Amino acid sequence: MSDIKKGLNTICTHVGAIEDKEFKGAVSPLYMSSSYAFEDVDKKRYPRYFNTPNQEGLSKKIAALEHAETALIFGSGMAAVSTSLMAFLRAGDHIVLQQTLYGGTYNLVTEQFDNYGISYSFTEGWRAEDFAAKIKENTKVIYIETPSNPLLTITDLDAIGKLSKKHGIVSMIDNTFASPVNQNPIDFGIDVVIHSATKYMGGHSDICAGAVASSQTHIERIYQLAKNFGGSLSDYTVWLLERSIKTMGLRVKAQNANAQRMAEFLYNTPAIAAVYYPGLPSHPDYALAKSQMRGFGGMLSFELEATYDAKQFRKSLQMIKSSMSLAGVESTVISPAETSHAGMSPEVRAQQGIKDGLIRFSVGIEEPEDLIADIEQALEKVRSQEVITTH
Ligand code: PLP
Repeated sequence: MSDIKKGLNTICTHVGAIEDKEFKGAVSPLYMSSSYAFEDVDKKRYPRYFNTPNQEGLSKKIAALEHAETALIFGSGMAAVSTSLMAFLRAGDHIVLQQTLYGGTYNLVTEQFDNYGISYSFTEGWRAEDFAAKIKENTKVIYIETPSNPLLTITDLDAIGKLSKKHGIVSMIDNTFASPVNQNPIDFGIDVVIHSATKYMGGHSDICAGAVASSQTHIERIYQLAKNFGGSLSDYTVWLLERSIKTMGLRVKAQNANAQRMAEFLYNTPAIAAVYYPGLPSHPDYALAKSQMRGFGGMLSFELEATYDAKQFRKSLQMIKSSMSLAGVESTVISPAETSHAGMSPEVRAQQGIKDGLIRFSVGIEEPEDLIADIEQALEKVRSQEVITTH
């Protein structure tokens, strides 16, 4: 039976598992060898060739989760992003990238691409017309992110898939925010799906990894570069990641439900000026999100009313940690302007609508009442400080 036909949690739990033939243990054995036989073997295995038993097993799971033919696992999300991009771009080529993008990807493009003779255009918005407007004769890749980091904009996957095919361009998506639990871009015609597996796949804020899922042909092209660039993942972390993904379906569905509840609570709280969450009917692309996502995800962003100090608010939270990264089982908040998007100039951030006081909220699996209580007490604290400082 094809792996694709299995249900989400079955894929998470079983696909790609290595059978322990010797001891009949319930979990995949961990093969830590960095030296394998080269004589009388079906293939030459080596960690940097992305083909150790644990690497291959986990790749099958991730491919099945993304409805892809095959996948590769990397040492970080950025290793997956950079290797995938460079595999399809040569000197003289051009790429169109979505305007609202993870800051690290923006930095890679703006700090490095000139050195390689690769030209790039960022879109003015995130509609298919915005991408079409930037396509040139030498455009080789369209790169999107939906929902985007940090403003949760939604890009039309089907429209981008069609646009790319019409022009013979490879389409790539950073699917980190959605996770394969909520969105499978390949079903909508996107060619290459990239993940920071540090996030929902890892899910416990203790793993740094990346993944790319696509067709055999595209992955072969990415692999040829990957083995030269050397961004493979250590087998121990591969093994931990396999364990983490077993509960990804359960975790992400719980995070979806909690984020929906938080978004609704924040939306109805007078101290909150704006909430960005695709699961709110007030989100401009709510209908589009509904049509291409199975769940709206665990990420949201919000702004406080001008009289509230965002930094003081973050510091006043007791359970919700002010900490970098996202998607762990524990709820966290960050200031994108000070972390993920600090590499952008204030002008570019302003152009993209990323205000200095914007708070990005990665909703965990705690009881929603406890999260609400924490936010309420922090707002109360900031409010009373405000009273003290203004009198
Ligand atoms: N893509 C997104 C949307 C991210 O949020 C991140 C990291 O925050 C990355 C890619 C990069 O992943 P990593 O930190 O694993 O290299």
